[in-house]
Amino acid sequence: MMGPPGAGKGIRGRIIGKMFDIPVITAGNMLRDATSKGTEDGLVAEGYMNRGDLVPDNIVIAIVEERLSRPDVEKGFVLDGFPRSMNQAVALDRILKRLNAKIDCVITVSARAETIVARLSLRRICSKCGAIYHLRDIVPKVEGVCDECGGRLIQREDDREEILRHRFEVYEKQTFPIIEKYSTVGTLKEISGELEVKEIPSVLEKLLRPRG
Ligand code: ADP
Ligand code: ZN
Repeated sequence: MMGPPGAGKGIRGRIIGKMFDIPVITAGNMLRDATSKGTEDGLVAEGYMNRGDLVPDNIVIAIVEERLSRPDVEKGFVLDGFPRSMNQAVALDRILKRLNAKIDCVITVSARAETIVARLSLRRICSKCGAIYHLRDIVPKVEGVCDECGGRLIQREDDREEILRHRFEVYEKQTFPIIEKYSTVGTLKEISGELEVKEIPSVLEKLLRPRG
């Protein structure tokens, strides 16, 4: 899943995971997890994340590589938020080669800046499982509580407007250029980031399983 911050990669990735019954590996969630556990890498990562900068490649690559060495990825997986730099893309190629796996599809999610800013200011995430909510569009059944796991919903530090603007610049400079790398593979598919949440599953079905 590729696209600017807040375009809706996370929610689309989770829907795809359910469609194909495969794990969704979300770099940002794994980093936030490491931070809340207080691991050495997690504490380093926290500073970068709060500023809206990319966490150093070696940290992110190690975390993703460890995750991809577990057996549940064998029937496939969704990668959300990785790779985000050219070094990470090169590392992913190496890891996939070792796993004897290939990328079936690179899904890009596009959205206008106004949509994203409006969305992120109302975004809440589950502190336990990473599920995504929106105070107007994806309202939890019980206020402040995750529908899926009962975890507490929190607002992310980096969803503040100043930080958000910087995350955009980082995306344009460091992540956007690597989409080009995948455009030659013939696997790029685009989905709008502006859809209503209830429209997303059928659009993804058409995109990923056109013959049902
Ligand atoms: P969003 O897609 O809304 O920006 P994420 O949860 O994917 O949110 O990312 C939040 C932050 O986590 C990023 O701003 C960055 O600091 C860090 N991060 C996530 N993925 C990566 C990655 N692949 N490489 C480096 N840093 C990352
Ligand atoms: Zn949860």
